[in-house]
Amino acid sequence: MHDESNLTTGRARRVLGERIRPEIYGERVQLTLEAAELPGEPIEPALGPGLEYAPFELGSAWGPAWGTTWFRLRGTVPEGWAGLEYEGVVDLGFDADTPGFQCEALVYRPDVTPLKALNPRNQWVPIEAGPGGSVELYLEAASNPILLERHPFLPTQQGDLATASRAPLYRLARAELAVRRSEVAALVEDLELLLQLQEQQPAGSLRAVMLESIDRALNALLLDDIAGTAAAARAELAPVLAAHGGQVRHHIAAIGHSHIDTAWLWPQRETIRKVARTMSSMTTLLELDPDFRFGMSSAQQYAWLKEHRPEVYARVKAAVAEGRFEPLGGMWVESDTVMPSGEAMVRQFLEGQRFFEEEFGKRSRGVWLPDSFGYSPALPQLIRRAGFEWFFTQKISWNQVNTFPHHTFFWEGIDGSRVLTHFPPMDTYNAQLLGDELTRAERQFRDARRASGSIAPVGWGDGGGGTTREMLERVKRLGDLDGAPKVRWESPDEFFERTAAEVPDAPVWVGELYLELHRAVTTSQHHTKAGNRRSEHLLVEAEWWATAAWIRAGLEYPHEELQVLWRIVLTHQFHDILPGTSIAWVHREAVATYADVAARLEAIIEASLRALVGEGQLELSANPTSFLTDGVAAGAVSEALEDPSASSVREADGVTYLENERVSFGFDAAGLLVHAVDLRSGRDYAVPGRPGNLFQLHQDFPNQWDAWDVDRFYRETVTDLVEVQGLRAWVEDGVARLELRRAFGESSLTQAFTLAPSETSVRVHQVTDWNEREKFLKLAFPLSVWAKESIAETQFGFASRPTHVNTSWENAKFETSMQRWVMVPDRDGAVALANDSSYGFDVTRDVLDGTGVVTTLRLSVLRAPRYPDPETDQGRHEHRYALQLGGTELTATELAHGLNAPRRAVRGAHPVEPLVTVSGEGVLLDAVKPAADRSGDLIVRVHEATGHHAAAEVRLDVPFSAVHEVSLLEDAPQAVAVGEDRAVRLGLTPLSVRTLRFVLS
Ligand SMILES: [Zn+2]
Repeated sequence: MHDESNLTTGRARRVLGERIRPEIYGERVQLTLEAAELPGEPIEPALGPGLEYAPFELGSAWGPAWGTTWFRLRGTVPEGWAGLEYEGVVDLGFDADTPGFQCEALVYRPDVTPLKALNPRNQWVPIEAGPGGSVELYLEAASNPILLERHPFLPTQQGDLATASRAPLYRLARAELAVRRSEVAALVEDLELLLQLQEQQPAGSLRAVMLESIDRALNALLLDDIAGTAAAARAELAPVLAAHGGQVRHHIAAIGHSHIDTAWLWPQRETIRKVARTMSSMTTLLELDPDFRFGMSSAQQYAWLKEHRPEVYARVKAAVAEGRFEPLGGMWVESDTVMPSGEAMVRQFLEGQRFFEEEFGKRSRGVWLPDSFGYSPALPQLIRRAGFEWFFTQKISWNQVNTFPHHTFFWEGIDGSRVLTHFPPMDTYNAQLLGDELTRAERQFRDARRASGSIAPVGWGDGGGGTTREMLERVKRLGDLDGAPKVRWESPDEFFERTAAEVPDAPVWVGELYLELHRAVTTSQHHTKAGNRRSEHLLVEAEWWATAAWIRAGLEYPHEELQVLWRIVLTHQFHDILPGTSIAWVHREAVATYADVAARLEAIIEASLRALVGEGQLELSANPTSFLTDGVAAGAVSEALEDPSASSVREADGVTYLENERVSFGFDAAGLLVHAVDLRSGRDYAVPGRPGNLFQLHQDFPNQWDAWDVDRFYRETVTDLVEVQGLRAWVEDGVARLELRRAFGESSLTQAFTLAPSETSVRVHQVTDWNEREKFLKLAFPLSVWAKESIAETQFGFASRPTHVNTSWENAKFETSMQRWVMVPDRDGAVALANDSSYGFDVTRDVLDGTGVVTTLRLSVLRAPRYPDPETDQGRHEHRYALQLGGTELTATELAHGLNAPRRAVRGAHPVEPLVTVSGEGVLLDAVKPAADRSGDLIVRVHEATGHHAAAEVRLDVPFSAVHEVSLLEDAPQAVAVGEDRAVRLGLTPLSVRTLRFVLS
């Protein structure tokens, strides 16, 4: 027989598109349109119906960028429609290709209760009026601009209300009541599914049968009577759609989903509305199909819904109670996980799970982070210690180079904790269950020998929209269909339960889940990063002092204010805000918000310290770090010891030295670091002929995703900034100082170096006026260090990465992340670089003749991508960093902690002893705070910070009646050893995090 399969598929596609699909709707009546365009930002929906409406012509333009237009739609359901299925259909001027990234609307009844959303792939509205009844609908339509167009990543001014155009962006194309022919709609679903599935089959009998049935169905269809013959056509498809079993053994646990970014190419205020729109649609779908299950993450999004659209929230809450709407992930938002501090990650879980528990009476059992840009190796421990059973993401499928070897595996973290992890082999969090997606899930699944299935999050995401009616239809057909994996709506918990039983000894992946893409997100939007870092330290510090003031001075603890501030900071750790990948609007607001957060925290700190020290004239110093600093104990307020020694400045052979008894830093006339001597060992870490403190400017124009990506070729063009304008050195207050200024391109910077007596680190305060475009500024320190690995701080510890590029895996990590410090060690010493607002660095190694191995450590200082914010990072920036010679992980942590949380000068009547004292080498105090349940119990968290086994004692300076070790969620109490002296004795395994809960007496 001749092969005519292309003829069949070509025929089916044309008939589907041109003839069948338009026949889904039969008789229609046009709705009368009126509109009221808001002059500014959105209003309370309750005010919508009362606006002044003007007549609006179908086909007219509406909606400037970021505008809101209220439409009133009125009409009457024809009497003749009795017994027919009918609905409203509204096309706001949608572009079918970018759902979630353009105009959308929420439809309200006249009493302003939300009905359902309108999205590009979801244009129907349920009509509650019967035949002869009148219809009145209100649309709150958002004219959000398309910022990710077909030629994406071009700079655009549309990303901020302040710079966006005022011209209307959309044309309202359709607004009618229409009779829906469900048999024709079902034929569309049948035909589309088979068309897609036959494409995926190998040549053979199944594909042949599918093609033949398609041809027969088309033969049965009269093109001039589609509605009348749809059933006959479907009858021809029925046998092949009913063919069960077959060769495919893969099961897909489908969960309805809409990954709504908490902010990205829209501001947070729009996310609030996106959540309301999508959830109004999803709760409508849950009513249509009893098998459908939907999952949404991010407690923040539920909290927004509760506050702003309580009617939709009530529907969600009811569906949660039925067990069909699943609160996923147990986090406040789907945060970045590389940059937030350890304590912040704990609070993501604490605030998320507490919200779910208070609102829904249950917690999430797994962590759901499909889209964050790489995953910290500290996470497995935090996930397990917060009581979660599983972890889910798909982002690592975006790797540029290496294909991850597992889809179902145990992920092991820095302390040895393991968590069962799954990556969906469908490689998407926005699945539509298309034929190629189904096939990809089955064929790519790497653990098929023993595990039977995978997860598919099904629905439009990023900008919302969610699951569609068509996707529900598809799942109905895919329950057990020959030629496709078996698909069923299922909770991810059920999937993980089954998987845990199937592969109790799943393979293990140790260490970070590095994303081989989006490597520049640790540098873009520096102000946002600085705001996050400062907030994290101020929050922990405010808790310390406020707790001490509550217990010691009876000051009321500001529970409410601190929870609000934590939640604001947690929200800003969302995976497009902290990474610097949102529009200008989002980052402009973030900077203002961080300033407000800092002011409010400073006020709490000031009030707490004042209550603690009383009125008086003693010059005291408050130490908010977990290290004894200048004679002030951790958590104490006392007189700081004056260092009697002084650093000095010396000139020799054109080199200016900043020196004390322990270290000597020498700068040449160009301000480059030519000597970095640890005087205790005599070792000079500088490399002859390769000076450090070298700023390097690179062209930085990635192939795509400008704010996210730096591509490897950026290193191939570099300008060394060796010109210096003004360099002077002097000693002031015993501190050796050197200041220099450089100008380059349109920019300039100053560096103020200080070397305090007795310190082994030179500190730098850098102020940059940055006006470059598409450039990457690095600060390089070539070091005479034979480092086999670099060690970078992560949450509650550190992790190492090889400096070699032997394998494609190491080679792909050409830009990597740290928290407050990075260190390059060899067997005889180490150099550490600590910072107050940076997260990116790179390390390379070279071999120089006669000099041996050179390790070059480079801090990522500033970038200037132009998409999505065309003005990214333009203007003034401050960076504080310090270079430490001959230290360890612990001294680097100490340096970094002091840099981020400096001692505070306080004037008062008396010193204050620390409330909590921790002894034990390398065991650090992380949090001192009242229990989140406001029971009056006290929470103390410590961790082992050096990678050793440690014995620690935790002492509380107030009486307590009981103490237990608890989870990161402050529950699941376990006995701990308490000595005669009331000290809690803890044995800590390397890099472990432990939480104690004291009942005060
Ligand atoms: Zn996302």
